[in-house]
Amino acid sequence: MQHQIYYLALVAVIDRRLDELHEEVGELPEQLRRARQVLERQQAMVNETQNIIAELRAFRAKAHVTIQELRDREQRLSEQQFRVRNNREFDALTREIQTVRAERERIEQELRNSVLKLENLEAILQRQEEELAQAQQEVAELEHMLALFSSNQSGDVVRLQEWRQRLLARIRPEVMAEYERIRTFHRDALVPVRRESCSGCYSRITPQRLVEIRMYRDRIFRCENCGRLLYPEERLPELQEAETV
Ligand SMILES: [Zn+2]
Repeated sequence: MQHQIYYLALVAVIDRRLDELHEEVGELPEQLRRARQVLERQQAMVNETQNIIAELRAFRAKAHVTIQELRDREQRLSEQQFRVRNNREFDALTREIQTVRAERERIEQELRNSVLKLENLEAILQRQEEELAQAQQEVAELEHMLALFSSNQSGDVVRLQEWRQRLLARIRPEVMAEYERIRTFHRDALVPVRRESCSGCYSRITPQRLVEIRMYRDRIFRCENCGRLLYPEERLPELQEAETV
């Protein structure tokens, strides 16, 4: 049976490796999240442009029919003008013809404008679709990379977490709680004493305490400056020792 601090040092060594593995994945999840947002925006823009184009095409299809109908009506009204009984009727027909003609001319103008509009929109759509394809590729690549890292690491992570779990059974809960509390401030909550200093904050350790740290191996020492737990460097366990605990 080893001392508490030994098991805790092993946990620290395992945590350090787990942190390293986590760092390898690093920014990938965040990058993927952002890439998906970009993709969503690109998709929305493509949809919007496609809708406008569809509306314009529908207008053009209908406009030809409407123009013909207005022409026919104008024709009928002109013919009616020959059969009027008085000036009042003639003037009324004239006004109606003018209204119908103005409407037809308005639609004809709109139809002419729509040619250029449609050309512009189709150019925009093409560019947007290219950007959409790029965004799709970006997401696919990041997903692939993340999956690759995760599958490479998952074996290691599971094994390390199993070792860590076994060690926890040997460490008193209040000691473990203290370690976790320090870890919220310093990821390296337990550090070796190196060159007579805390290797976390590099502050000097008095010769008296150095002796105590080496002598009283059943006691847990903290750095007076940063609060990290201290461990004699020469006795710092290797990661593999955790396998046999
Ligand atoms: Zn320190």
